[in-house]
Amino acid sequence: MNTPAETQQPGSQPAPLGLPIDPRAYARGLSCVHCGLCLPACPTYTSNGNEADSPRGRIQLMLGLADGTVAPTAPAVKHIDLCLDCRACETACPSGVVYHELLEETRAQLRQHSSRINQATGAQLPRRSLSDRAIEWLFLNMLTHPFRLKVSLLAPRLLQKLGIYPLLRKTGLFNILPPGLRKMEQMLPPRGPLWPRRMPERVAAAGSKPGESDKPKVVVAFLPGCVGSVMFARVNQMAVQLLADCGADVVIPRNQGCCGAMHHHAGLHAESVKMARQNIIALEQADFITSTIAGCGAMLREYDVLFRDDASYADRARHFAAKVRDISEVLLQLGLNDFPHPVHETITYHDACHLVHAQKVAAAPRALLAMVKGLKLAPLAESEMCCGAAGTYNLTQPVMATDLAERKVRHIEATACRTCATGNVGCAMHIQSHALQTGRELSVVHPIEILHRARFGS
Ligand code: SF4
Ligand code: SF4
Repeated sequence: MNTPAETQQPGSQPAPLGLPIDPRAYARGLSCVHCGLCLPACPTYTSNGNEADSPRGRIQLMLGLADGTVAPTAPAVKHIDLCLDCRACETACPSGVVYHELLEETRAQLRQHSSRINQATGAQLPRRSLSDRAIEWLFLNMLTHPFRLKVSLLAPRLLQKLGIYPLLRKTGLFNILPPGLRKMEQMLPPRGPLWPRRMPERVAAAGSKPGESDKPKVVVAFLPGCVGSVMFARVNQMAVQLLADCGADVVIPRNQGCCGAMHHHAGLHAESVKMARQNIIALEQADFITSTIAGCGAMLREYDVLFRDDASYADRARHFAAKVRDISEVLLQLGLNDFPHPVHETITYHDACHLVHAQKVAAAPRALLAMVKGLKLAPLAESEMCCGAAGTYNLTQPVMATDLAERKVRHIEATACRTCATGNVGCAMHIQSHALQTGRELSVVHPIEILHRARFGS
């Protein structure tokens, strides 16, 4: 088992300069008391037993990188890269260590300063592989633009509709792709519309007449998400229909954009701030701001952190963040409790990291599902453990991501359920794709799909 100190290359001297980590993020690390209570919750540590791949080990490593006592060698950085940023350690930590701030700041600084570090220390931090850079480019330039994503999916969707795509897969043609890009191809859901419809700008509360404005209604701003609006279009439509049926006026402003999570996690601070500003302007007038995508919701909920150094925007961002709720919380708050159509099925539920650990939402989706007549919810072992999707992680770290997906699918199999619900598009695609690849019969759905069926019968 490696300790952080052992990750320094033999004979290497401490780095002559530390990473310029924001003092607030550094202080987050200093609040760790090394108790180790987070270790059993950490997917990477429980997978390989390496202290340097545990939250405690990584915190020491990152503090060392910041103060210059740990050299920023390639093996050291590997432990930072292997972290899923799932934040299970934060849920487990009794000292309230806000681990992700230190991690994200360290990653951003490593990215920004890697050539300076190489020059100053001879550390030879490797350039990211062509495949990793291609994946990042695709994520930042295609997946965060729904129109481009729709265009890029047109050909595969057409081939799927014609029944040719599975045959192409069988020929092994896609095996020539680098592992990350191959994984991306495998994640394409087997079904989906050729050209997902754009959502309307407003859906009035059920029962209201056009132009009616006599009684005050709850206004809910809905963020469909970039990938969500293409891959989860049906789920988004169902969510909006449920919101309106519960008496909310739903607004889906055209001038909103990407939540900025991918840019933020890639260390592109200026870009994520720009996107956050655009969304605050577009959505802030509503009473609640919501999304069906846990990753987007978590990002919206933390916009206040992005603007903490901007006195002109800090208050606005704080008010915005305070209005953000997961879709399950909003529906519960609006009083959704009448489900006339029984669903006679036993399903299980996987807690998406960005819902349970980042947003601390575990009870609301379960409470809604518990009200559906005929539905049974089987408990899932390690339901709060990351499935390995974690944004681009399943593409850049395919080995660990596949191990974690396998672990998740085995736990689902142990429940004997054929359906697993989860509140994040990334988890759904990753678990579903792994089940398909390994020949398991499993359907991964959003809880909204079940609630919609129970409410409307279809
Ligand atoms: S964020 Fe997740 S993978 Fe990273 S140290 Fe914490 S628990 Fe482990
Ligand atoms: S549980 Fe918290 S304080 Fe304890 S080792 Fe983990 S991060 Fe540090």
